[in-house]
Amino acid sequence: MSSDLSGLEAARAFAQGAHRLFIDGQWRPALSGKTFATHNPGDGALLGHAASAEAADVDLAVAAARAALDGPWSEIKPSERARLLWRLSDLIEKHADEIAALETLDNGKPLRDARLFDVPHAIETLRYNSGWATKLGGETINLSGPGTWHAYTVREPVGVVAQIVPWNAPFAMAVAKVAPALAAGCAVILKPAEETPLTALRLATLIEEVGFPKGVFSLLTGFGETAGAALVEHPGVDKVTFTGSTEVGRIIIRAAAGNFKRVTLELGGKTPVIVLPDADAARAAEGAARSIFTNAGQICNAGSRLFVHQSLFERVVEGVADYAGKLRVGPGLDPETQMGPVISDAQKQRVSGYIRAGVEQGATLRAQGAAAAGPGFFVPPTILTQTTPEMSVVREEIFGPVLCAMSFGDEDLDQIARTANASDYGLGAVVWTNNLSAAHRLARKLKAGTVRVNGGGLDPALPFGGFKQSGWGRENGREGIEAYTEVKAVAMAV
Ligand code: NAP
Ligand code: MG
Repeated sequence: MSSDLSGLEAARAFAQGAHRLFIDGQWRPALSGKTFATHNPGDGALLGHAASAEAADVDLAVAAARAALDGPWSEIKPSERARLLWRLSDLIEKHADEIAALETLDNGKPLRDARLFDVPHAIETLRYNSGWATKLGGETINLSGPGTWHAYTVREPVGVVAQIVPWNAPFAMAVAKVAPALAAGCAVILKPAEETPLTALRLATLIEEVGFPKGVFSLLTGFGETAGAALVEHPGVDKVTFTGSTEVGRIIIRAAAGNFKRVTLELGGKTPVIVLPDADAARAAEGAARSIFTNAGQICNAGSRLFVHQSLFERVVEGVADYAGKLRVGPGLDPETQMGPVISDAQKQRVSGYIRAGVEQGATLRAQGAAAAGPGFFVPPTILTQTTPEMSVVREEIFGPVLCAMSFGDEDLDQIARTANASDYGLGAVVWTNNLSAAHRLARKLKAGTVRVNGGGLDPALPFGGFKQSGWGRENGREGIEAYTEVKAVAMAV
């Protein structure tokens, strides 16, 4: 990659601006006047301050969203919603370098990743959902009861939606939530994570520029315990979509009970990567390494449990170790960097604690790459072997660059699936094999929302979400936009 840092100057200037909340089409300080600081995880430097929304700000945003829904937004034709979303995607494309640099500053990820994944993914998500705005519809239904009926269903926007996102892919995740909700005709209130408010703020400026009616989109930067909690408890909010920890997911389910909010939850994962004996060992090793070390392992769907048939175990683990050894860990703005820091010192301590606990409980530290020197929150890419199923490193989501590699001797797919399924989570699973039948049979047996064979990735067209404690509902694809609608059945005696 070239050392091209275009967009960085604009990103730094934006970060330092006087940030406010975006409510009812206006930028205003939090009613309390409170702000909070955001830092660069790559060097700890202060980037800027954002306004800290609380319950009173939430009241204003909810009222504005309701007014938009009761007023101009519901009158806007689907094709116009499609155009607005497409225009937003064009604006993001125009400012792609600046947004990528801003994401790297605030989150720490390699600039290359922000440019090649986060920003393009956001653009594609908007364009994909833009297409759905004109295609959402109901069906006619044939009734069998007494009488003659004309019956049909319609899909209506679910209403005021609170969207709460984490810090690991802040921009892509915010857009992945906002795009289908707006395409479906909902009004949105977005709360980014306190660690990473900046790209959501930039997104709000572009949404303002596109010209959505006021109140259709509000941005509340702030803390989970204040802004987030007030949103999920608010009686004027019809739906909450949340990506984050399973623990906070549970809090949200309870809070949503007050007015029976609709809830979509994308929570944690402990994705198994299964390498069958016929797989291409070199490709599987590289795929496994990418799956756990991309974004420093801070991906809910990171392949954190590697199961390799014993005949390939040494080769695959050696391949992953080799990848880890060569991985250049450093600040996201360094063009040489392939893996950035984790988000915060707390997260660094948490991940390091898991590695220590694993070793204390008897795991072998099979390989560990270099952690960059300097003030950033760096954790070395780490591979543990000789783990047992009850160890915390195998059971719990670490959300860091830590892989547990295990071997199996069995060729019985039921047994392999049982081992992979032995988790509270069920977000994703990856299978490496050239055996078509084994791939399809395993895909059926794995308890995961997404099964990938011979590769990884994310696509706005492919439903994404979890079985078990990995969540409720799906994002992306038809399911993702339908989750922002209510079905109404209409039957008329004729
Ligand atoms: P988190 O603590 O659950 O935070 C996520 C978001 O929820 C943040 O905006 C947070 O605000 C907010 N929040 C916290 N407490 C809240 C409350 N009581 N009410 C309402 N909102 C509240 O998660 P995290 O530690 O930041 O992120 C890592 C976790 O996210 C991991 O477990 C990971 O697996 C999961 N994740 C899942 C997916 C997926 O698609 N399944 C994707 C990415 C991440 P603050 O910023 O103030 O904390
Ligand atoms: Mg948090």
